[in-house]
Amino acid sequence: MTDYYQSLGVSRDASTEEIKRAYRKLARKYHPDVMGDEGAEKFKEISVAHDVLSDPAKRQRYDSGGMDGGAGGAGAGFAFSDIFESFFGAAAGGGGGRGPIPRARRGQDALVPIELTLEEEAFGAHKEIPVDTAVVCSTCHGSCARPGTSPKPCTVCGGRGSVQRVARSFLGNVMTQQRCDACQGFGSTIPEPCPECSGEGRVRTRRTIDVDVPAGVEDGTRIKLVAQGEVGPGGGPAGDLYVEIHEKRHPIFTRRGDDLHCTSALPMTAAALGTTVTLDTLDGPQEVDIAPGTQGDAVITLRGKGMGRLRGHGRGDLHIHLDITVPTNLDERQTELLHELAQLRGEERPEARVAPVGAGMFSRLRDKFAGR
Ligand SMILES: [Zn+2]
Ligand SMILES: [Zn+2]
Repeated sequence: MTDYYQSLGVSRDASTEEIKRAYRKLARKYHPDVMGDEGAEKFKEISVAHDVLSDPAKRQRYDSGGMDGGAGGAGAGFAFSDIFESFFGAAAGGGGGRGPIPRARRGQDALVPIELTLEEEAFGAHKEIPVDTAVVCSTCHGSCARPGTSPKPCTVCGGRGSVQRVARSFLGNVMTQQRCDACQGFGSTIPEPCPECSGEGRVRTRRTIDVDVPAGVEDGTRIKLVAQGEVGPGGGPAGDLYVEIHEKRHPIFTRRGDDLHCTSALPMTAAALGTTVTLDTLDGPQEVDIAPGTQGDAVITLRGKGMGRLRGHGRGDLHIHLDITVPTNLDERQTELLHELAQLRGEERPEARVAPVGAGMFSRLRDKFAGR
């Protein structure tokens, strides 16, 4: 295990002030900007030693053996990176000191909403969508320079994108890396920017893209088109484009997942006698048999006449909720016939019993009030 007191060349009863003084003296000597890689190991060692011994709590733990071994491992790395950050990270102004910044950067993703009808969602659709995004400048092809000219290496930083400066710190004068102001860290300058894009390498334009919307999408579905978004600065790679589906309200059908719902009025006589009716579906009119004695809460389900399924095969169902209507404005003959029927069925004075409301009836009432 490293003896931190030995590293700093101080006695075990040295004061905090003495420790700091010893560290400053050694740091000036072994700082990587002074000694390069040769001093890096030693600099790291004294930095960790200083970090531990200058903090009374950490020093006490170290003295009592609590930082045995570990101090040279994980603990040391943490402390060193902190110190390293304060020297290079902060002073470098972000991005400096690690080579020039590439001029071309990835563009942003874009989001385009489109409105679809229920039919388009059910069966899929081909759409041509106008999109406003940045595209690569066709004049300079993203180089940012006027055609016939080219970027020049920055003379201030020599193409490194960063410059060394002397900064005053508690260690005395220290060399730090800072972003080159002359080239904004790119390492090169553009003496004659492209006139078309003002040296941006990209221009905003409206274009039309073709999108094949698969069957089964719903309100809020996003279709990802890779690399169809914004081209980045400096003609950098494009982000992705997301097409977001907004569902237009259908005049008849209400969607619940893959299934569709609607209602259909049916005269009482037809429900009692049974009949064949023609009902509208997404696929066009369809003949549907109504069984004799169909009740007021009946639902006719047409399998496979609902929405397409985005993942998986087949389609959902269409549920037609029957609304059985009782005849009104009866003329004399009709009244006579109904009386006769009631008489034959013994229903002229039916026994009306009261009973609790069933759960099914509650949900029907709720649906009615919710306008479903
Ligand atoms: Zn251009
Ligand atoms: Zn420069």
